[in-house]
Amino acid sequence: MHRRTFLTASALMTAAAVTRETDARGAEAPLGPTEGPLGATAAAMPLPPSEQLPLGPLMDAHYPDRHFESLDKRFKGGVSNGALERVATGFRWAEGPVYFRAGRYLLFSDIPNNRMMRLLDDDNHLSVFRSPSFNANGNTVDRQGRLLTCEHGGRRVVRTEYDGTVTVLADRYENKRFNSPNDIVAASNGSIWFTDPTYGILGNYEGLATQPEQSKHNVFRIDAHSGRVSVVIDDFVQPNGICFSPDENKLYVIDSGEGAAHIRVFDVDLDRGTVRNGRVFANDFAPGITDGMRADVDGNIWCSMGWGDPKEDGVRSYSPAGELLGKIHLPETCANLTFGGLLHNRLYMCASTSVYACYVNTQGAAIP
Ligand code: MG
Repeated sequence: MHRRTFLTASALMTAAAVTRETDARGAEAPLGPTEGPLGATAAAMPLPPSEQLPLGPLMDAHYPDRHFESLDKRFKGGVSNGALERVATGFRWAEGPVYFRAGRYLLFSDIPNNRMMRLLDDDNHLSVFRSPSFNANGNTVDRQGRLLTCEHGGRRVVRTEYDGTVTVLADRYENKRFNSPNDIVAASNGSIWFTDPTYGILGNYEGLATQPEQSKHNVFRIDAHSGRVSVVIDDFVQPNGICFSPDENKLYVIDSGEGAAHIRVFDVDLDRGTVRNGRVFANDFAPGITDGMRADVDGNIWCSMGWGDPKEDGVRSYSPAGELLGKIHLPETCANLTFGGLLHNRLYMCASTSVYACYVNTQGAAIP
């Protein structure tokens, strides 16, 4: 009988998680407290207010905000009478932003601090959403509005149900554990696509150090009906950010591995769950790299930028043909981004110790 592991968290997502095992019909049996050292990661060390980066518009913002650099008239970054804002700070490594319109809040991961955070739109209230998060990294939302999360520490992909329980969707391929699922996207047909580099098992900072069981660093797909996991792409050094074009005919995947530093695009057969005709979409990142990305409604690709020249830290926007349209300059290396706000025209950027946001002249492509 096919068996899955369920993690049930309390309604408030406290650390008092209990692992459960269940069969395919949903019968559950408690197994005991959450195992291992994952819940023992050192707590965040909040800086005194005097040492924290200030929130609000950046100090040198002057309209038009110089942090928005247009290289093409099609660039939709920033608005003429708007500033780039730091909306939250105090993290060790912010990643995996996802926005929930119904609640008007942003969720994101603080990977080394083993927690997920929630930032409310209306009053900028910041609180812990889940701890331990099993070193959660990438997050997205499926077409039913449910949170999907990649866990480094858990080495699995999980879904948060409407009642707050957490279902493990996949934790292995060919009976071998994943490396450390990194980023994730949900298709309209219910299939879930995610990347599996080794970043979360290379050390004990963003997960737990261990030897990989997988022979490759794949892009995987979880079938919507059978739950079967299959390999979609197997020739990346370190597959990282992933997103579809608005019509889902194209799949974009970032390679952030040593010497790779590019985005590739593939033609997608969504029904068969396959891709073909892979080619380089953008590769002008070195000596920096890009990590995460999202598409807007026009098919432009917005990706993070960092780890190289600090003057290039931030976000880039590329046309569907791969032309660089413009940049958003941030004072920190940017890992990932997402469109949020009720109209999906507010760009949230997870950048090292802080989260930044600005309004843009476009909207995110995937609105569940
Ligand atoms: Mg990533």
